Amino acid sequence: MKPDSTGLIDFIDGVKIWETVNSTTRTDAAQVHDILDKAVQAKGLSLEETARLLQVEDPELNEAIFETARKVKQGIYGNRLVLFAPLYVTNECGNRCAYCGFKDTNKELLRRTLSADEIRQEVTVLENQGHKRLLLVYGEHPRFGAEWIAETVRNVYDTVSEKSGEIRRVNINCAPLDVEGFRKLHEVGIGTYQCFQETYHRETYAELHPTGYKKDYLWRLHAMHRAMEAGIDDVGMGTLLGLYDYRFDTIALLSHAAELEAKYGVGPHTLSFPRLEPALNSDIAFNPPYPISDAQFKRLVAVLRLAVPYTGLILSTRENREMRRELLDLGISQLSAGSRTYPGAYSDPDYDRPDVQQFCIGDNRSLEEVIGEIVEHGYVPSWCTACYRAGRTGEHFMELAKKGFIQRFCHPNALLTFKEYLLDYAQAETQEQGNSLISHELEGLAEKRRTAVADRLNRIEHGERDLYL
Ligand code: SAM
Ligand code: SF4
Repeated sequence: MKPDSTGLIDFIDGVKIWETVNSTTRTDAAQVHDILDKAVQAKGLSLEETARLLQVEDPELNEAIFETARKVKQGIYGNRLVLFAPLYVTNECGNRCAYCGFKDTNKELLRRTLSADEIRQEVTVLENQGHKRLLLVYGEHPRFGAEWIAETVRNVYDTVSEKSGEIRRVNINCAPLDVEGFRKLHEVGIGTYQCFQETYHRETYAELHPTGYKKDYLWRLHAMHRAMEAGIDDVGMGTLLGLYDYRFDTIALLSHAAELEAKYGVGPHTLSFPRLEPALNSDIAFNPPYPISDAQFKRLVAVLRLAVPYTGLILSTRENREMRRELLDLGISQLSAGSRTYPGAYSDPDYDRPDVQQFCIGDNRSLEEVIGEIVEHGYVPSWCTACYRAGRTGEHFMELAKKGFIQRFCHPNALLTFKEYLLDYAQAETQEQGNSLISHELEGLAEKRRTAVADRLNRIEHGERDLYL
């Protein structure tokens, strides 16, 4: 691997990845069971083992993969699900990504960048729904540098009121910055920095990103290195499914994760794997060249859960309600809800706006509707942000997670944030449903922990907020 003229190395070896994928197409039942015996110990999988599981078509073996993924998911994360909403700050963009409604050649798209007041207005709407965690999303435009992005983050954190509440964690999905730029984001207290490579297949990448800053594959590939060097140790990576062969991009994504782990002692905090959704004036978004079927997608989620058991897996509202429901058991740990994909959307009563949005969403339900359903299925919604505010991020978080920390701390903290939600934002029916789930969960806790949580629940009922273990 030689560095390019800027000194950056392409550590994704495409030839080797194809060899791995091709050499594992025929995997027999005994091999699958051997891999699953290892996977159930939650120690992760090699790239070769992952590639083998991804290609399993046999229904019984598939069910065995799902069953193992459910066990691993339950063992590490229990029934807790982290909820968040995206907040689009600008849809102005100087890039020409073939699949995106925000590309610069899309002259029919109404461009909008939120002012400071408009950001506060959007945040207030989201706070009034009960959100505590936001993902800010930005097009990439020369007008918007790191300082401006940092200012928008400050703006969100500063939008606090007794009535609506506050946002406790701001994650960011913006174009790659230089180390100095990332430092500015770190200084304003962002949670996760998220950026997807889209596809790791270089020829396809070049075809789909013909111009603009995003054309530079290696600059993007090294975004997480620069973020880590700037002190941001929670990073979220991803691949956009439908652009190229999903097996190739999955193995490449995991190689990217392994590179970070080898270099910085910690891999990504989260992985995302959105499927292409229709977008205004994008043929490729309507007709993905490498569509991934529902069955393949479900298997992918289960296999990722086994391959990187301690890495959060994020699901957006690109997927519809039924698919989202099934994927929760198989490995998803973070879920967006009540999302809109254009700037100003939450203050806009007419949310179906192909003329401004990035892409169409598959699940249009409100946060409260999503909560009603997940609670019905026994999941505890969580808005907990304790780890990040207590400095338990990056390598430190991973170490704790491996010692069962998520069950012992994150689960009780989820109950506390859920209680706040029920008291401050939920309607009567959800309150009833939620309180009975909390009582049920309390019964399952060891005595000492149950007393500690019950004490805090009581304090929350008496008006205290933001309590955690
Ligand atoms: N502009 C920045 C960038 O490209 O990295 C960040 C924001 S961009 C709006 C966030 C992500 O949206 C992209 O990384 C891409 O994976 C995803 N995306 C773009 N077009 C999409 C589509 N038609 N369907 C689903 N996801 C899409
Ligand atoms: Fe711009 Fe990002 Fe959309 Fe590409 S994916 S056109 S960079 S907003």
